[in-house]
Amino acid sequence: MPAGSEGALRLLPGREKPLREGHPWVFSGAVGAVLGNPAPGDVVRIEDSHGVFLARGQYSPAARIRARVLERDEETRPDEAWWSDRIREALGRRRELLAEPEGACRLVFSESDLLPGLVVDRYRDHLVLQVHTPGAERMRETTIARLRELLAPAAILDRSDPDHRRLEGLGPVPDGAEDGEAASLTIRDAGLLFRVHLAAGQKTGFYVDQRLNRPAVAAWAAGRRILDAFCYTGAFSAHAARAGAASLTLLDSSRDALEAARENLALNGLDAAPLEIRRGDAFADLRRLRDEARSFDLVILDPPRLAPTRAQAPKAARAYKDVNLLAMKLLAPEGILATFSCSGGIDPPFFREIVRWASKDAGREVQVLQVLGQPPDHPVRLSLPESEYLKGLVCRVL
Ligand code: SAH
Repeated sequence: MPAGSEGALRLLPGREKPLREGHPWVFSGAVGAVLGNPAPGDVVRIEDSHGVFLARGQYSPAARIRARVLERDEETRPDEAWWSDRIREALGRRRELLAEPEGACRLVFSESDLLPGLVVDRYRDHLVLQVHTPGAERMRETTIARLRELLAPAAILDRSDPDHRRLEGLGPVPDGAEDGEAASLTIRDAGLLFRVHLAAGQKTGFYVDQRLNRPAVAAWAAGRRILDAFCYTGAFSAHAARAGAASLTLLDSSRDALEAARENLALNGLDAAPLEIRRGDAFADLRRLRDEARSFDLVILDPPRLAPTRAQAPKAARAYKDVNLLAMKLLAPEGILATFSCSGGIDPPFFREIVRWASKDAGREVQVLQVLGQPPDHPVRLSLPESEYLKGLVCRVL
């Protein structure tokens, strides 16, 4: 597009401040005028109320985040070649992880890798994409071509979240976006094997973001009775079993996940310790366990994303508090609680506060032993606090 015919977002007076500070989002409320007639996914010029250039970003007219910044240098056009370079760089940052042939990791983490709306996870030689913004959708072919060139994957699948896409005005994933069959494969994660069902599993198949947290939690597992709530395919439990857990109680609402968890324990020869598998709503089942006067020495709480954005935070906070309170009631004196939140809408200080509310209501003093977060393949971008979504606290509940 020749310069001059480029669409632009002119911000309201004073609303350019966060952008100038480095934050890469333009919210709908900051936009004073849309100049030209940009289409969804177009690169637009973002300017202050006087027309002074601030950045270029991808336009998303249906979303609350109206534009996501790509480039702040006025001379550099963020075109296909630009996007392709960012992909090469993101992969370069994962060199060590890519060197493990059986591993799973995140290769592209959206804004944190300067590629808004795009997530690429790798499971051995399979790649799984999530394309969540019109800008990233526009770059789909460029993305796939570059990934093929650099990694020669056996297959590339699309596991975009339909809700995410809808919020950005995107329809279902276009036909033909998938290549390769619904794959099921075995990955090696921190020395343990896990079956991953790429087409049917949750998220992109496995929670790779908890990779480093599982061994950290398992360091507390020897000789302890473990409750793994929201266990999914049992990855925390497998690590705890390897570390010498006295018993394992797995809890999840998904039958398929629990079946896979049993399979994964067996796959690693970790079915020696007494094993109890409970299917149900964890909020109700934790109460039931309390009514049964059950007691545990290590409780792992890894609930789903209850507050994807800040707007859902107050309601989610109550749910997080409840579940942490129930877990504390199930813990023997001096028991360990490994509690997580993957909600972007709840920041680390707020999460700590929620756990404090639970401790107060439980009448138990709590020591924080270790603060956990995201692994290096899910980097937090400092200029985008929203990219820090995974929080964990390993606590001793006195
Ligand atoms: N700890 C897992 C990941 C957990 S993801 C791991 O390390 O791989 C969240 C899990 O919570 C999913 O498996 C989902 O099936 C389950 N879940 C969601 N809502 C639930 C509920 N109300 N009760 C029990 N499980 C629930």
